[in-house]
Amino acid sequence: MSVEYNCILIRFGEIFLKGHNKKYFEDLLINNIKNALKPLDYVFNRSQGRYYIEEFGLNAGEIVSRLTKVFGIHSVSNALKVKTDPETVFDAARKMAPSEGKFRVTVKRADKRLPFTSAEMAAKIGGELLKASGARLKVDLFDYDFDLNVDMRDNGYSYLFYDKIPGAGGLPVGCSGNGMLLLSGGIDSPVAGWLMAKRGVRVNAVHFHSFPYTSELALQKVKDLAAKLAKYTGGVKLFIVPFTDIQYAIHEKCPESFMITIMRRFMMRIAEKLAKHSDCGAIITGESLGQVASQTMQSMNVTNSVVSMPVFRPLIGFDKEEIIAISKKIDAFDISIRPYEDCCTVFLPKNPVIRPKISEAIEYEYPLDVDALIDAAIKNTVTEYITE
Ligand code: ATP
Ligand code: MG
Repeated sequence: MSVEYNCILIRFGEIFLKGHNKKYFEDLLINNIKNALKPLDYVFNRSQGRYYIEEFGLNAGEIVSRLTKVFGIHSVSNALKVKTDPETVFDAARKMAPSEGKFRVTVKRADKRLPFTSAEMAAKIGGELLKASGARLKVDLFDYDFDLNVDMRDNGYSYLFYDKIPGAGGLPVGCSGNGMLLLSGGIDSPVAGWLMAKRGVRVNAVHFHSFPYTSELALQKVKDLAAKLAKYTGGVKLFIVPFTDIQYAIHEKCPESFMITIMRRFMMRIAEKLAKHSDCGAIITGESLGQVASQTMQSMNVTNSVVSMPVFRPLIGFDKEEIIAISKKIDAFDISIRPYEDCCTVFLPKNPVIRPKISEAIEYEYPLDVDALIDAAIKNTVTEYITE
């Protein structure tokens, strides 16, 4: 088999493209594809519910790798595109054919004007390959090593390919609106952001840092994680919020066991304010039920109660192993395990409350000037747009 593929075929989830939103979804998906391929040379074509990338020179590998990170794409294939004329198709099939082994040919004739059925054409192509190969090739429709696919589309071209490389699935980023992810340097929150991006949410992120208790390297880690997310979303607007003064105030004026609970309430309030400013409809966190003391139902109730925006917790029912598997898949894991401290480890209480009550939190926050602390933190927030 010696062949130079001249086309990359893109298939997208048909289901969400039905109905009156079809044009909106497609425009968004095409825009996201073009964004992902921006630095590369190529030509984009579309026809009959498929997209084609052509004239890409030596960039096929890079293009496929980028396409498989665009949400909304179902699968991609490296293909050989030829004119739909029997001799030309036979010739292309001979170029694509393996030198030995068991094979089958699957023809899809989308162009119904062609004067043969899919099965007839598959048999003809199979016959040509057998003729050309001597005894080294065998047809086996069920137990085969190679399945040569031939898609005959109604644009007058046929596309020959073997593999369907799975895409990222999901919905085009942006179609579900904007979300504000609480992004720590841990394993969970980048995965939570990725899962929501997969459902079409354009992810903004907020990170709380406790300089000088947390270092520049800890902050760099968060930016590197945001850059991994950006590979899937096109870019992440990152808000970096100084948190030390708030932590000092809580440490000084509130009971130690409520340190984390009250800290979280501040994080949520600040996240909601920033979210409203940047047109976000939801807050996203990496919490998973029961993982630590601050992730009990009661704790989440107490932290939720300071905001009115929906809080998405896509990992709520995930085990750590499941989260780690996704973290590795999106190439975030090695960054997440870099050993830098998080703001939550500063002033960590020995015995955090596991079942806090809203009334207790309100009472213990009473000595704090909540609004002034929040305003100061937001005033000193730095915004960065992170790209891959
Ligand atoms: P992660 O692995 O995401 O850090 P975790 O298991 O360490 O999660 P916690 O430390 O309890 O859990 O944090 C729960 C969630 O709170 C995180 O998933 C994240 O969404 C948010 N969070 C925690 N620390 C920060 C921070 N410094 N900045 C922004 N968000 C944070
Ligand atoms: Mg953490």
